[in-house]
Amino acid sequence: MSAQTVLDPVSDLVEQAKRVLPGGSFGNMPAEVVLKEGKGGRIWDEAGREYVDFLLGSGPMFVGHAHPEVTAAVQEQVPLGTTFFGNNRHGIALAEAICDAVPCADQVRFVCSGTEADLYAMRAVRAFRKRDKILKFEGGYHGMSDYALMSLAPKRPGNFPRPTPDSAGIPKSVQDEMLVAAFNDIDMVESLIEEQKNELAGVIVEPFQRLIPPKPGFLQALRDVTRKHGIPLIFDEVVTGFRFAYGGAQEYYGVTPDLCSLGKIVGGGFALAAIAGRADIMKHFDRLAMTDEDFIFQVGTLSGNPVAAVAGLATLEILKRPGAYEQVFDPDVPKGLVVATDPAVGSQAPWGSTVVLRVSKGPDLVEVPDVTGLTRKEAEDRLRAAGLGWTYVLPVGSRISRQRPGPGEQAPRGSDVLLLLNVF
Ligand code: PLP
Repeated sequence: MSAQTVLDPVSDLVEQAKRVLPGGSFGNMPAEVVLKEGKGGRIWDEAGREYVDFLLGSGPMFVGHAHPEVTAAVQEQVPLGTTFFGNNRHGIALAEAICDAVPCADQVRFVCSGTEADLYAMRAVRAFRKRDKILKFEGGYHGMSDYALMSLAPKRPGNFPRPTPDSAGIPKSVQDEMLVAAFNDIDMVESLIEEQKNELAGVIVEPFQRLIPPKPGFLQALRDVTRKHGIPLIFDEVVTGFRFAYGGAQEYYGVTPDLCSLGKIVGGGFALAAIAGRADIMKHFDRLAMTDEDFIFQVGTLSGNPVAAVAGLATLEILKRPGAYEQVFDPDVPKGLVVATDPAVGSQAPWGSTVVLRVSKGPDLVEVPDVTGLTRKEAEDRLRAAGLGWTYVLPVGSRISRQRPGPGEQAPRGSDVLLLLNVF
C-alpha cells in the first residue's frame, strides 16, 4: 500500500473504480465521489467529508437515510429470509397499501426498478389494446428500456411525432413503435391522438415532467382525449408516487390514469417498483384469466421480496402521518432547504421555476445564481464562482431545466436529482 493510499483512501478507491468500472462509475455519478454513509439528510464520503444531500439516492430515501423505523423493519426481516421468489405477507400488505393509497390502483404487480415498471406498463397497454404504438412526450423519462429512451434529450428541436433515440444500441425499428409530442401542448397531443387512434396502444406521461409542471388543465385534457378513444393513459409516478401526495401526482392533480408505474419511495431504498392500475388491464398478467395470446409473461427473481416490502411499508407508515406532506411542501424556500438538510421527510418537493435556491453554509445563506439559458459547463462555472464548491448536476428549481435545450445546449440529465453540494 502506498503512502498516498494511506493518506488518501478516496483516490485509491477512485483508481480502483477506474480500473474495474467503465468510466470509473456505476453510471450515475462521477468516479471522484465515493460515498460511505448517510443519515437523515446528510451523507459522508470515504474521506470523511460531510455533504448536505439533496439527492437522497435519487429519490428513494425520501424520509432520510437510515431512518430508524425503516432500519428496524429491515433488521427484523433479514434473519427470517431475504427473498423467496414467491408470495410473502409483507409484499401482499404492500400491494394492499398501494391499492389503498393510489387512485388508479385496483391491482399491483411488483418488479425491481422503475425501468421495468414502465416497460411492463407499456407492454400491458399493448396487450390490452392489441396495438403497438406508444405516445410519449419529448423530455419525458421512463427509464432505460429501448422504448423509453426515445426523445428524452434530443440533440435537435423536435421533429414531432418522430422520436430520436437517446442511446446507442437501440434497434432502429423501435423508432417506428413510438410517437413523441410536446409536453403541455394539448393541441398537438389531441390532433396526434385523433390521427393515430387506431394505431395507439397507450400514452405514457410523467405528470410533472422532470422539472416542468403540467399547465393547468393539460393532464385533464390528456385524460379526456385518451378516454374518448379508449386509449389507456399511463402516469409514470416513479418520482411523484408518494411524493406529491400520499396518492401521488394523480391525487395531487386530481386526474386518474388507467395505469401507473411506481418506484423509488415505494421500495424504501431497496429494489422494488410496481405497476398498478385498472383490474381489466392488470388481469393480462394473470395466466389463469387469459388466453395464451393475451397473457403477459412477466416474472422477476426478486419481485416483491420481503426486505424491500417491509422497507416500503415502513416508509409509507411515516408518510401517512399527519403533517408529513405539509413539511415537504413548505413554501418558505430557505426554510424548506434547511428542513431538507435534516429531513424528517425528504427534500424533493416540486419547487417552482422561479425559486432561488438558498443553501445553508454554516450560519450564512449562499444564493445559487440564476443559470437560465447557460450551458451546463457555464452554469457549473458560475455556481463554483459563487462559492458553491463542487456541484453534481444543475439544480432542480433553477430555470435552466425548464427550457427545451436549444442547439448547442445540453439538457440537464440528472433525472430528479436536485443538487449535491459540498458546502464545506
Ligand atoms: N421513471 C422516472 C420518472 C424516473 O425518474 C426514473 C428514474 O429516475 C425511472 C422511471 C427509472 O427508474 P429506475 O432508475 O428505478 O429504473
